[in-house]
Amino acid sequence: MSTTVEKHPFQAEVNEVLSLVVNSLYSHREVFLRELISNAADAIDQLSFRALTDHSLLGDDQDLRIELVRDEKAHTLTIRDNGVGMSRDELIEHLGTIARSGSKRLMQSLSAEQRKDLTLIGQFGVGFYSAFLVADAVTVVSRKAGSDETWVWESQAKGDFEIRGGHRTGRGTDVILHLKDDAREYATEWPVREVVRKYSDYVRWPIRMQVERGKEGEPKTEWQTLNQARALWTRPKAEIEPAQYQEFYKSLSHDWQDPLAWTHFKVEGAHELTGLLFLPSQAPFDLAERRKGGVRLFVKRVFIMDDAQEIVPEWLRFVRGVVDSEDLPLNVSREILQKDATTRFIRKQVVGKTLALLEELAAEGETPREVDGEQRQVRRYESFWTEFGRLLKEGVYHDFEARDRLAPLLRFRSSHGDGWHGLKDYVGRMPAAQKAIYFVAADSLATARSSPHIEALRKHGFEVLLLTDTIDEWIVDALREFDGRPFVSAAKGALDLPESEADKQRKEELQQQLAPLLERVQQALGEQVKSVRVTDRLTDSPACLVSDAHGMSAHQERILREAGHAVPAQKRILELNAEHPVVKRLQAIGDEATFADWVALLHDQALLAEGSLPPDPAAFSRRIQALMAAN
Ligand code: ADP
Repeated sequence: MSTTVEKHPFQAEVNEVLSLVVNSLYSHREVFLRELISNAADAIDQLSFRALTDHSLLGDDQDLRIELVRDEKAHTLTIRDNGVGMSRDELIEHLGTIARSGSKRLMQSLSAEQRKDLTLIGQFGVGFYSAFLVADAVTVVSRKAGSDETWVWESQAKGDFEIRGGHRTGRGTDVILHLKDDAREYATEWPVREVVRKYSDYVRWPIRMQVERGKEGEPKTEWQTLNQARALWTRPKAEIEPAQYQEFYKSLSHDWQDPLAWTHFKVEGAHELTGLLFLPSQAPFDLAERRKGGVRLFVKRVFIMDDAQEIVPEWLRFVRGVVDSEDLPLNVSREILQKDATTRFIRKQVVGKTLALLEELAAEGETPREVDGEQRQVRRYESFWTEFGRLLKEGVYHDFEARDRLAPLLRFRSSHGDGWHGLKDYVGRMPAAQKAIYFVAADSLATARSSPHIEALRKHGFEVLLLTDTIDEWIVDALREFDGRPFVSAAKGALDLPESEADKQRKEELQQQLAPLLERVQQALGEQVKSVRVTDRLTDSPACLVSDAHGMSAHQERILREAGHAVPAQKRILELNAEHPVVKRLQAIGDEATFADWVALLHDQALLAEGSLPPDPAAFSRRIQALMAAN
């Protein structure tokens, strides 16, 4: 083996993450042990998984374990595992670059201010680099399982690391921390014990340490196991403290914050299954992309794979946790997973238990929680919704089976008042005369709230959902109805508002009276509109544009166009408010040129009020100026 020492620079982003970690996480520095023990446990998981098919990898070193070796004189602490180990290339790749492209991009986009934000930094999953919180130099000695080469990685976190050949008996990895002067306590027994108890008690492999026992003058050292070494999810719920669930979550997800909630369940019967699923408090910055480490699959306590997509539908990609099956074969592969009926059963359980947890949260009142460093009373479901609501909408759209349970979990803004509103509450508030669930979609809440389309609905005391998320209209289209009430767009078709006989008659009279005007307006606008009619949805505005009952709304059209789809422009119906003074004056205009200008203005301001742009903004402002000058 080569005895030369090679120097490698860290990838630029590693330097940045390193300086961030060391400067920002200082007051939480004891987490380094959780991170390194978690890596060691993962390495042992990987080994035991590979040993399923290649038993020789275990050799005569079958007692899988993590050891903490302290040297009080040399001021070092070593985290040792007999797991899968790393080759030379893996040392360079894993400990010299940031693999996750999302992390790299986030790093580049952070402002100086944001870089001080712990929760953002936590999202990098500081992992291995947290060693530098307590060490000014770190030496990693590793031998990959099945290889007889040992390689040493060493760095002082000053921009580069060294790689050289080395010696180690047997496979696995030693992470040797050369402790900083003010962190020397981590070479002594009690602080290490304390940190393991606090952060790593749930680790499923034994964590052992040499301790001094015996009488004074007759010192004796012995190996002690510091943890229970039983996978957390296999323990009875009653024996698990909330803090243990929280630590388990953090090591599993590398999240910095406590989870929002979790569900721990056992399914018995034809299939047996244990699961522990967590909802994070905050959405990761790269939620849109698929992230690794969602739900880990175990079979009879043996780790099988990270992020088993077959058992978690894509719209549940925010869920973190573990699922441990008693039924799948130990040598299960992705291909088998895709075909095995057990997979469908597990997936159903994961979806069902997550939905049950969400239902529980949705039914819950306010609870005290820390928000931005302050204790506040909050509804946990609302914070969940703000972070992850979008994915439940994806679920409604893509997962037909889950749709019925998802619908009551959706939250919307509404004309009823500030805050989020569920459909159950909406229906509960419906007056007897109201038959449908009304909605209006716009780019912003303010535009939706002041939309002319909802004027009459408001007058009737009918609540209107204000949809501002781009996918909302597709979601209500997919749902079609809730609790037997259809969703009806305030900007489409006829609204069918309840009306008295007198109202009906009056409307018919108006329609007849105005027939010549409607005809003139239609002629003035020509191809720009499909038709012109008297409205029943306006009270304060003179005009609005509506789509056919089954057509696309202007808002949907705009979204599709912005997303680069070639959507043919749909002609819409111009509705006039017969009671409005502007419409009344319009009737009196004899001069065709003036009439045409007024009609063009009515049409353009109907577009503006719904959040669309007039087709010819310059002509629009010319007409306004002329009107202003004339008065
Ligand atoms: P993460 O664990 O989030 O991937 P880390 O920075 O903690 O990030 O570790 C980077 C990678 O280095 C790990 O994914 C793993 O491949 C490798 N690694 C770290 N520690 C060990 C270890 N003790 N044994 C084997 N591989 C390890």
